[in-house]
Amino acid sequence: MSSSRILIIGAGQAGGRAAEALRVAGFTGPVTLVGDEMEPPYERPALSKEVLLGAAAPESTYIHPREQWRAKDVELICGVRAEAIAPGSRSVMFSDGTRLDYGQLILATGSRVRPLIGVDDTLGGVHYLRTIDDAKRLTRDLVPGKRVVVIGGGFIGLEVASSASKLGLSVTVVERQPALLERALPADIAAAVERLHREQGVEFRLGAGVSALVGSANGNGNANRRVTAVGLSDGAELPADVVVIGIGIIPNTEIAEGAGAESADGVVTDEFGRTSVEGVWAAGDVTSHYNPLLGRRVRLESWQNAQNQAIAVAKNVIGPPVAYAEVPWFWSDQHGVNIQMVGMAQPGAVTVWRGDPASGRAMAFSVVDARIVCATAFNAGGEIRFARKLIESHTPVDAGVLSDASRKLKDLAGRADRPIATHDAAAAV
Ligand code: FAD
Ligand code: NDP
Repeated sequence: MSSSRILIIGAGQAGGRAAEALRVAGFTGPVTLVGDEMEPPYERPALSKEVLLGAAAPESTYIHPREQWRAKDVELICGVRAEAIAPGSRSVMFSDGTRLDYGQLILATGSRVRPLIGVDDTLGGVHYLRTIDDAKRLTRDLVPGKRVVVIGGGFIGLEVASSASKLGLSVTVVERQPALLERALPADIAAAVERLHREQGVEFRLGAGVSALVGSANGNGNANRRVTAVGLSDGAELPADVVVIGIGIIPNTEIAEGAGAESADGVVTDEFGRTSVEGVWAAGDVTSHYNPLLGRRVRLESWQNAQNQAIAVAKNVIGPPVAYAEVPWFWSDQHGVNIQMVGMAQPGAVTVWRGDPASGRAMAFSVVDARIVCATAFNAGGEIRFARKLIESHTPVDAGVLSDASRKLKDLAGRADRPIATHDAAAAV
């Protein structure tokens, strides 16, 4: 007899939200959620912010305390890795030798940190940041007065730089691209983020490669070698007591690929979350999913996508399929400034500023063919929903009006009376 179990692999944010959504949507059959971390499902954003600063306990990131999963009748299995999927028999083999059958399978395996190749990243004081354990270890090393070198000027690097600087460490960020946040923001907007950091004393080495992590034995032999410096490819050496590597992530696609699922920089899914393998779905960081608003596939690494795509996919597994179609949204907190981004940056976009970030509050609109494709808010998060509406509706905008802070964005968005975009209309976003 075929199994009625919905099995979810990966007990991170997407996995947890999918399990919860199945129950909220009224599914009464067995739900099993299996993850290889020891923690119950948690959200990662606070790990580089409040948790590093000591303002929140690591456990505060849990979606629900462990016992609540039992109360929801979700079987949560932690510390066990799914090794292989057998789609023919609809079963999954696990690292503890067990096998579970499934009726439908949701893959929420997320992503892992990209390692810095060619250096000794096993030295004491060298960190990556992805998990609660990583955050706990890093917190112990962030001692006021110490020198931290952050490798990578993406979100991880900049949020760690902000937290470490607030804790009283001296911070240098090494980024191999000429600008920060290259994947997320146009260079002129990223430059405003850079200024924010420089004002707080953070130093930058942009366009710089890392050639070595230098260590010394500290008198205790090799076992206790700690990092002392970061060697750059131009021959410079940056003294360091602590090094944090944040050079991107790799989606955990292997188990899906092993089952024959199509994969291209992420497990390929349609707008409903279906993979190319019958009965196998996917959600969260691991997916390269079709977004009908953008008219193309995207792989998003964000809280919004981990939560909302997972909820959408869970509902699709048990009910009539509804496309997951949202304009991407991200946020970050750096040096007390809340930065929110909605839409997707595009090459060739022109930036229209409304206000000056140096004043503490501003917005930057990325405009293509008189349409906003992306908006960035500095301490102006309340405006993001109006920018989102303008992006979704493809409303033509005038740069003079956009830059005029006396013209309310809300009023401009109120005129956004075109329907929410379909495939064709969205091609320009
Ligand atoms: P993950 O969180 O990676 O969870 C996947 C889980 O599956 C992991 O526990 C993994 O170990 C497990 N797993 C993988 N393979 C297997 C297997 N074979 N068997 C069993 N288990 C498996 N986004 C924002 O929008 N805003 C922010 O401010 C923000 N801050 C962040 C701060 C940090 C420090 C980090 C690391 C990320 C941040 N993000 C932020 C990104 C956001 O947290 C991720 O996009 C989100 O966690 C993705 O969720 P996920 O469930 O898809 O994947
Ligand atoms: P990103 O990919 O955003 O940024 C990594 C940066 O490091 C890129 O600019 C990359 O450049 C650069 N880099 C790569 N290799 C080197 C190198 N050898 N030396 C110097 N720089 C290098 O990833 P992050 O690590 O910042 O973030 C990891 C994950 O965490 C992402 O999923 C991110 O979305 C998520 N996150 C999100 C946050 C948010 O939304 N607020 C906050 C924190 C994390 P190149 O392009 O050349 O590879």
